Amino acid sequence: MSFDVEVKRIVRLGANFQRITFAGACLSDFGISGETHDLRIKVIVPCVEAEGTSLPLPDLSELSAGWYQDWLKLNPATRGCMRTYTVRGARCTGPEPEIDVDFVLHFDEDGNGGPASSWAAAAQPGDRVCIIGPNAAQCVTAEAYGGIEWRPGMARHVLLAGDETAVPAITAILESLPEDVTGHALMEIPSTADRQPVRTASGVQMIWLARGNRPHGELLDAAVRQTVALPGWASVETADGVPFRQRPALSEPEEINVDEAILWETPQRLDPAAVQATPNPHAPSGALPFYAWIAGEAAVVRGLRRYLVRDVGIDRKQVAFMGYWRKGRAES
Ligand SMILES: Cc1cc2nc3c(=O)[nH]c(=O)nc-3n(C[C@H](O)[C@H](O)[C@H](O)COP(=O)(O)OP(=O)(O)OC[C@H]3O[C@@H](n4cnc5c(N)ncnc54)[C@H](O)[C@@H]3O)c2cc1C
Repeated sequence: MSFDVEVKRIVRLGANFQRITFAGACLSDFGISGETHDLRIKVIVPCVEAEGTSLPLPDLSELSAGWYQDWLKLNPATRGCMRTYTVRGARCTGPEPEIDVDFVLHFDEDGNGGPASSWAAAAQPGDRVCIIGPNAAQCVTAEAYGGIEWRPGMARHVLLAGDETAVPAITAILESLPEDVTGHALMEIPSTADRQPVRTASGVQMIWLARGNRPHGELLDAAVRQTVALPGWASVETADGVPFRQRPALSEPEEINVDEAILWETPQRLDPAAVQATPNPHAPSGALPFYAWIAGEAAVVRGLRRYLVRDVGIDRKQVAFMGYWRKGRAES
């Protein structure tokens, strides 16, 4: 469903993050039942003419079930640019419904950003965008909704890892976790000035990795390898007493060319009863149930996928790998 909304508030969260709160009466129809976790939406920002003037968005209120095909048929010069974002907060049940989206302000060395990043950096209260998101009237639950990938199932030990584009999702997930969940949240951010206060009832340890001038993903990759360290995992015996690494090779992940395909590999929702009945035979005893959620630049995520699945041998059904963006490629 599409929502025609306007910018209500703008808050600078850190050196490279801008929180934009969108409001509009139509948002009372937005949402899912329960926590939003990493709920993704499409944000359509206005096209900008050569002189920098924003063109008004066309009326997108008629976009329905086949909204994407409908939108593609519109004039590319005026239909706006569609990008994917996370709902960082949603307050849609009161008299003034609103949602927060945290935009990373990314610009290259020449100061050029993508359409969404540029729009967010220049946004003013009253500016309008269109959001494509779930319709609350259909009472979709997080379990049933395809736009949420956080599916820990029975897991009580988790790994969340991502770059700045995944910080809105990771922090929203952390805020929703109950006390008995432990693990690590590894977040690579451009600078120390991008750390954000996060409240979680869980025992998950938050680790902020300020990149500075290092290559994108270097710190995140190292931190994941340290957190899920090979000797530790490999020496753990499984329930039947066989050391983990002596098992025949588990699944070798097929190569994904992140320049041509989207890296998006997420487990199906687990039926808790089925999980209890048949514990995973390939995972180390004591470490189960474990679940990992990894998102960020596609090549970095691909490297972590290879490490966790091939080298460590973690069951792919317990890890979500998501390329949120690709270096050098605009989202299309
Ligand atoms: C499910 C999902 C949820 C997401 N949630 C968020 C979110 O909450 N907040 C958020 O900021 N982003 C989020 N992203 C990432 C966001 O969609 C991309 O960063 C997107 O490319 C930004 O659009 P743009 O118009 O600014 O840049 P584009 O036009 O898409 O790209 C222009 C250039 O900028 C580069 N680029 C894109 N993103 C970055 C970046 N972060 N850092 C450096 N260079 C970049 C591209 O490689 C390209 O060269 C999410 C993506 C997905 C798939």
